Amino acid sequence: MEQTQYHGIFDSHAHYDDEAFDPDRDELLNHISQNGVCAVINAGCDLPSSHEGIALSQKYPFFYSSIGIHPHEAQSVTQETIEELRSLAQNPKVVAVGEIGLDYHYDLSPREKQREVFEQQLLLAKELSLPVIIHSREATAETLTLLKKYRPQGVVHCFSGSAETAREIVGLGMYLGFTGMITFKNTKHALEAIQAVPTDRLLLETDCPYMTPVPYRGKRCDSTMIALTAQKMAQLKNLPIQEMIDLARQNTCRLFGIEEGALG
Ligand SMILES: [Zn+2]
Repeated sequence: MEQTQYHGIFDSHAHYDDEAFDPDRDELLNHISQNGVCAVINAGCDLPSSHEGIALSQKYPFFYSSIGIHPHEAQSVTQETIEELRSLAQNPKVVAVGEIGLDYHYDLSPREKQREVFEQQLLLAKELSLPVIIHSREATAETLTLLKKYRPQGVVHCFSGSAETAREIVGLGMYLGFTGMITFKNTKHALEAIQAVPTDRLLLETDCPYMTPVPYRGKRCDSTMIALTAQKMAQLKNLPIQEMIDLARQNTCRLFGIEEGALG
């Protein structure tokens, strides 16, 4: 964990259900607010992680959860899976359907099944009036086609696309989430994307335990390290770091319907 001099950090995308946190999850989450983190959204990837995210949200007031099936797991989805997601969404700490989308890089599920499950969950989100958290990898054109078709509220998380794609997503009324990837030496597109879109569309996220920002690469990421991502984003937007953190928190609260006053 990082000691940060900042406050009011909202990590809009984390995976605290991941086994990487098994040795010290409670220890970490019990102390995270003393290190500047005021809220976290845990992103579900399958039914077990969606359940686990909700369980953690019952334990920690600052913890929220999304429920959904990642494109990697699309293959296993049946109508019962969608029914279970629908019932999980009744929990008041569930703020989104996600992460859902298309992953044509790993292709762990057949593409046709990925599209079908993505569309089922876009419809579910609409029915539940919940925003979506989108995962899109090497599938920009098809993701955009489906976003235009269903017009969800939501965020494209861990954005690494071009400025042009960024403008198009923002033009649909959506948000872009950025991880520690923007601190990596070889990152270029994501930086141009940040500069291309208005500040009120930017979210900060860790995707922890993955995407650890420089200089901690190789270590396990957690929400306190987001300050380094905020620093890079602030620099690109010519803003003080704390102001960037505050703006990203306000954006996150607006998107996910969370009262800022409810945060510690
Ligand atoms: Zn994720």
